[in-house]
Amino acid sequence: MIFAPDYQAHCYWQDDSASPPAGPETLPTAVDVLIIGSGYTGLAAARETALAGRSTLVVDAGPVAGGCSSRNGGQVAFSFKPSHATLMAQHGRAVADGIYREGLAANAALAALARDEGLDFDWRPCGGFLGAHTRRHFDALVRTFASQVPEFAEPFEIVPKHRLAEAIDSPLYQGGVIVTSDASVHPARLASALYARAVAAGAVVVGHCRAQAITRVADGFMVHTARGLVRAAQVLVATNGYTDSLSTWHRRRVVPIGSYIIATELLDPALVARLIPAARNICDTRRVVVYVRSSPDGRRILFGGRASAAETDVTRCAPVMHKMMREMFPALTNVGVSRAWMGFVGFTFDNMPHLGGKDGLYHCLGYCGQGVPLATYYGAHIGRRMVDRHAAPSALEGLAFPRRPYYHGRPWFVPLAVQTYRLMDWFKL
Ligand SMILES: Cc1cc2nc3c(=O)[nH]c(=O)nc-3n(C[C@H](O)[C@H](O)[C@H](O)COP(=O)(O)OP(=O)(O)OC[C@H]3O[C@@H](n4cnc5c(N)ncnc54)[C@H](O)[C@@H]3O)c2cc1C
Repeated sequence: MIFAPDYQAHCYWQDDSASPPAGPETLPTAVDVLIIGSGYTGLAAARETALAGRSTLVVDAGPVAGGCSSRNGGQVAFSFKPSHATLMAQHGRAVADGIYREGLAANAALAALARDEGLDFDWRPCGGFLGAHTRRHFDALVRTFASQVPEFAEPFEIVPKHRLAEAIDSPLYQGGVIVTSDASVHPARLASALYARAVAAGAVVVGHCRAQAITRVADGFMVHTARGLVRAAQVLVATNGYTDSLSTWHRRRVVPIGSYIIATELLDPALVARLIPAARNICDTRRVVVYVRSSPDGRRILFGGRASAAETDVTRCAPVMHKMMREMFPALTNVGVSRAWMGFVGFTFDNMPHLGGKDGLYHCLGYCGQGVPLATYYGAHIGRRMVDRHAAPSALEGLAFPRRPYYHGRPWFVPLAVQTYRLMDWFKL
């Protein structure tokens, strides 16, 4: 049994979170700031520019916040992929320290939105479990966590194999590490909360209005949109994994990779709590990433990962995801899939997000699958930078934004890379 009787090719988060409205039909002809993309980045930036008194228009090619920001796994972890040592070797100690400080600040800022500002997006400091796929991975994990730079150390507990049931009920792992500072959110509610804040600050947000071309003019830009021309003094490209032919410069630097999630049918909460104790986020050390959690009501398991290199029909991908879920949780063999959906994550060639701008054209994107905290944080940061030239720069701003020869926006090399990674996982390398 793969599909539950109530199966829909639909994002589970939208079951209990209404999408923001599409906004007015008619666009203003001129604004101070035009933001392209209405996910966490665009909405967080719009609030800052509008609060500073700049007329701000956000346009999105699809539904408002309909990209990754309403359809992700809702997991919040320390978000930079390269280690502190790698960043130090590439950029020096001060930059590495600055980047890691911002990574911690991004998570703290998200917690503060829930705790101090009362935004309702189901913030849960649940912690996360990182499962070791092999004994060698377990030893490496323990070494990595034990040798963290003290200033940026994440609090953790080692889970040896004989205590695995405290963290997960799965035959896949040889132990692992619980990171107690990880958290989870309801991603669509976070998007709605950021939308409400941007609009309350005075921004206008319009869905189903693709930006088609950006032309530089004497005092800013003319942006050609699906609903006419808009003159803007400043433009922010906040399109992440949906970056399209609008700007070839950005398109050559962002690699869109499909990520897929299934939600099980309703389960006995006792079973969910046994499979994933304490409702922690689950990831593991395999190269082909999976990310797993329980739903906020504790009645379903949400299983995310990479089902296919090119397929975007989620119903065709659901059996692959179901098989991966069964391998992790044999107890779910006869449990059906109730929802399946996907989205495009924006990767970069150095595994780092990038933000910056020149002569009024700004960008902020490339969170490599970690944008719940990072897009919210850096979106607000780039918004402040656009309106206040004295605002402190981010440690990321000096980083070159790399591209690769023969890459123009179609990630032709990804299927081969994923197959190689799958083989390495299979052989437990
Ligand atoms: C399935 C999935 C699971 C994920 N899980 C996690 C997770 O657990 N934790 C985590 O931290 N991150 C996760 N992520 C990543 C995270 O969701 C993103 O990094 C984050 O939402 C990026 O926000 P954004 O605003 O930059 O981009 P998006 O929310 O993707 O918004 C970009 C928007 O730009 C619009 N756009 C593109 N081109 C144009 C144009 N020419 N004109 C107008 N609009 C345009 C698109 O329509 C889109 O709405 C996941 C992503 C996916 C897809």
